[in-house]
Amino acid sequence: MEKHKATRLLGEASSSGNIHHVWKSIWGLHIKRKIQHFMWRCAHNILPTNLALCQRKVLADPWCPRCGVELETLDHLLLRCPDSQLVWKCSPLRLEWPPHITLDCFSEWWQYLEHLFASLEHGDKNLQLVCYICWALWKSRNAWVFSQIRQLPPSISSLAVAEWIEFSVALDLPPRDQASSLPSVSTAALSHVSPPITRWLCPPCGYIKLNVDASTRERAFRAGIGIVGRTSVGAILFIKSIPLFTCPSPRVLEALAVREALQQVLFGQHRNIIVEGDAKVVYQSLNGAMQPPQDIAVIVQDCRTLSLSFNSVCFSFVPRLCNGVAHDIAHHALSIDEARVWDVCFPSWCLHSHQSDIGSLYPL
Ligand SMILES: [Zn+2]
Repeated sequence: MEKHKATRLLGEASSSGNIHHVWKSIWGLHIKRKIQHFMWRCAHNILPTNLALCQRKVLADPWCPRCGVELETLDHLLLRCPDSQLVWKCSPLRLEWPPHITLDCFSEWWQYLEHLFASLEHGDKNLQLVCYICWALWKSRNAWVFSQIRQLPPSISSLAVAEWIEFSVALDLPPRDQASSLPSVSTAALSHVSPPITRWLCPPCGYIKLNVDASTRERAFRAGIGIVGRTSVGAILFIKSIPLFTCPSPRVLEALAVREALQQVLFGQHRNIIVEGDAKVVYQSLNGAMQPPQDIAVIVQDCRTLSLSFNSVCFSFVPRLCNGVAHDIAHHALSIDEARVWDVCFPSWCLHSHQSDIGSLYPL
C-alpha cells in the first residue's frame, strides 16, 4: 500500500527544484561522511560509470563490466544490473525496484524512498541503509573492475549492513537501542532484520548457514574446531567437532574452520551457503575487503577455490554472541581424540545454545 502511495506522490513531485530538499535529507542522515559525499556524487550524476567515461572519451566501452549486456548508467549500476537487484533483494530491506522507479532522476528516486519509509517507526534507518548499500555496490563494482575480485550479492549486502552497524555502534548508542532501531520495511522484513546484532539469524530460504568457531587449550597443546549446519527454518543439518593436536593462532584456526566447513558440504545437495563466524579479519579477507594476512593467505585462497563449486557462498562476520553453538562444539573438540560428525541425533550439550538461537523463532 505504501508503495502505491509513494508511486502516486512520485507523479506529483517536480523533478527540478527538489534536489536541495533531497540533499538536505541526505545531509541530515547519521551516516559516514564519505558515504554522504558518494550520495552527493550520485545525486549530481557525476560518478565515473563506463557510460560517463565513454561520453567524456576516456573509455571506449560503455557497457556494464558485470553483466556486459547493458550500458553502465547510474541506474543500471545501482538498481538494475542482475547482481545489484539480488543485493537489494537479499538485503534486510528486501527491496524490489518497480520498472518506473529509476535513478535517472535522483530526486524522484529519493522521494520515492522517503514516502515508502515514511510511515515506519525507523524510516530514517532504512534510508541510511539504502546509502550504505549504494556505497557497497559501487565498491564491489570497483573491486571487480580494478582487482578482478567478484563479490557475491549476499556478501555485498552483508558488507553494507556490517559497515552501517559498525558506524551506528560508534555513535555510542547502547546496544539495545541499536537493535531496536534496525530498519523495518515490513513485519516480515523486521523478523529478518532485528536479530543480526543480538542473536543467530536463520539463513534465507534456499540457503543453509554454517556457523564455525575454534577453541584452544594452549597448555595442553590442543585446539578444536566446531561447525554446525542449519537450514532456513533453523533445523540442524549436522554438527562436526574436530580436535587438533597443535595450537596455531586463533586466526589460523578460524580460517581452517571455514575451510573444513566448506569441505564438509562440498558434495552435498546444498548449493547456496552462508558461512558465519566471529573472526573479523578472516571474513574481511575472504570477502576481499582486505589483503589476507600472510599466515592465512593460503587457507583463504583454498576457501575461495572451494566456493567456486557452489552456486553461491557468502562469508559473513557476526558478533560472538551470535555464534554460541559453534563455540560449544569447538570447546567439545578439546576433549575428544577423533573428529566426530552428528547428523541425526544431536548431543545434548549443544542443544541448549541451539534452543536459545532459535527460541524466539519458535517460542516454547
Ligand atoms: Zn550489468
